This record gives sequence, C-alpha cells and structure tokens, in this order.
Amino acid sequence: MSKILIIEDEEAIAELEKDYLELSGFEVEIANRGDIGLKKALEEEYDLVILDLMLPEVDGFEICRQVRDQKNTPIIMVSAKKDDIDKIRGLGLGADDYMTKPFSPSELVARVKAHLERYNRLIGSGRPQNDTIEIRGLKIDKTARRVWVNGEEKPFTTKEFDLLTFLAENPNRVLTKDELFRKIWDMESVGDIATVTVHIKKIREKIEFNTAKPQYIETIWGVGYRFKV
Ligand code: CA
Repeated sequence: MSKILIIEDEEAIAELEKDYLELSGFEVEIANRGDIGLKKALEEEYDLVILDLMLPEVDGFEICRQVRDQKNTPIIMVSAKKDDIDKIRGLGLGADDYMTKPFSPSELVARVKAHLERYNRLIGSGRPQNDTIEIRGLKIDKTARRVWVNGEEKPFTTKEFDLLTFLAENPNRVLTKDELFRKIWDMESVGDIATVTVHIKKIREKIEFNTAKPQYIETIWGVGYRFKV
C-alpha cells in the first residue's frame, strides 16, 4: 500500500485530502507544521508528499528544496495563490506537480495516482533485468536454474544448464567446441571437447522437437554450434 504524507496547516483541507486518499486505498499521514513535515519527509519513507506552500515554522519552498536534495520522493505542491505556483515553477525546486487551491479532491487523487505510477515505472526500470530468457517455446530461469519447453519443465544437470544458458545468451554467434569447453568446464581437468558434443546431444533431446532438425542449437560442421534466435 502506498504511503502518503500531507504537509498542510489547514486542518479541514488536510482531513478532506486524507479522507479521499484513504478511500482510494492509500495510507495517509498528516503533518500540520512545516518543521514536523520536513522531519517526517526526510526521516521516514513515503511514496509521495503533498506539500502546502504557506506553513508555520518552515515553508514549502524550503521543505521542497531539502527533501529534493536527499530524496526522489514525488512532491505535489499546493498553494492558494496562482502567483505562488508560478514562483515555485520559476525557482525550479524540483516539485513534480503543482495545484492551486481550491481543487477537487478527486483531481488530487487522480494526480497522486498518475505520479505514483510514473514513479514506480522509473524505479522499476532501474532494477536488475529479469533473469529469464524466453525464446519461442523455450524458457530459462537463470535465478532458479530451471528450464521449460512449451510449458513443460525439463530436468537439467549443472553443466547442461550452464551450456544452454551460455548459448542462449550469445545467440546467432558461432561458438567453437573449444570455446564452449573452456567457458563451461573451465578449471576442471577432466574431460575434453568431446564432452561438449555429448552435452549438446543431451540438451537437444530435452529442448528440440526433432533432434535431427534442431530449431535452437544448430551444428556448424567442423566448427561448433550456433544458437538460433
Ligand atoms: Ca497553508
């Protein structure tokens, strides 16, 4: 559940905003003074801050600047005066949105949702890539080290899995048996490049519909293999 901080000294407005946001499924906290709001915004984790401009102790300009210095939390600034909004924009304090009071609570809710979605998308794109490779009917989950062919899970040994994953991560490239052997078996002294051939055969039996006409791992005669995408 997304948590929202409202920094607003007018109690009636703060309560109205809170009611609407809670009805929309948000968890809401109110700070009715600038200094309290600033402390909360900096020390606690919120998904979004609704920030009034004119506040006792510390005003909205200062709060916006200090929060933005340290955090990327989306901030919607509100003010009774249109002129103030223009001033905030001009200062480039880094607020994400501005609203002039009075506004309808439903408009506030709509904007809050829009900013949260946008923010979550941004955050999401910064996360590590999905560790799953999907090529036609073949799905490889690198984290769980599991393989599915057309929805059916196939058991893979460690080396078979490493070899298949390496091939799938280097698609459309011809990889020599020697290269594959060094890459997958690396420090181990046992085996030779014939091991690669044996493992490719086993992998094909698991992933190919017809091993005589492989659709994934193609043999490049005299050289090695190529994973077709
Ligand atoms: Ca105020």
